[in-house]
Amino acid sequence: MGWIVNKIIGPVADLVFPRVCHVCGVRLSRGESFLCLPCIARLPRTNYHRIPMNGVEKRLAGIVRFRRAGAHFFYNRESDVATLLHDVKYRGFPALGRRLGKLIGDELRITGYLDDVDFIVPVPMHFLKKARRGYNQTDHIAAGLSAASGIPVLNAIKAVRGHKTQTSLSMEERLKNTSGIFRVVDPALIAGKHILVVDDVCTTGSTMISIGDCLREQAPATDVSFYAVGCTV
Ligand SMILES: [Zn+2]
Repeated sequence: MGWIVNKIIGPVADLVFPRVCHVCGVRLSRGESFLCLPCIARLPRTNYHRIPMNGVEKRLAGIVRFRRAGAHFFYNRESDVATLLHDVKYRGFPALGRRLGKLIGDELRITGYLDDVDFIVPVPMHFLKKARRGYNQTDHIAAGLSAASGIPVLNAIKAVRGHKTQTSLSMEERLKNTSGIFRVVDPALIAGKHILVVDDVCTTGSTMISIGDCLREQAPATDVSFYAVGCTV
């Protein structure tokens, strides 16, 4: 049932009903998509791309090897960023993920943050979950980042098993929950390269840590950075 809503009803509804801002509900003008300009301006930016040892890097430091890590917006469950990511993931608007990726990519590109990145790598989703949802939201966020930066997307990592929803788990439980679920598709494709792994939300950092562990074991010649759309404070 989920895929019917995501693949058919969602896109059709987008055409039939007037296009409105996903945050404030105001009717969008022709140049806007998914978000109105005032709402884009109001989203709470972290500026972490300018801050060494920012809130995300602190979660990973000393645990996994990385070149840079960050997230673009502050996130909590009641925030506008949460509303947007909920629409991307559960309400069948993957193209909104692409819009967010493009927005973030445009803002990062001009700072040079993406200059040394060879590939944008979406955090993978297990194929059963992807079949249920109809898409992996991080594929679409990565596509938007790619459109803004010209850096190609590479699905270099796959999820070899599913894992439970993380929301109610402690840090220790999360690490156990995500340990061993990722696999590098072909280490030769990313050897000597710098990849930017893209996720939707970073809370404890456990997904990034699991991917970092997986890369250390299976692709030690690869440099990795991590970036999420949103992160908890
Ligand atoms: Zn708005």
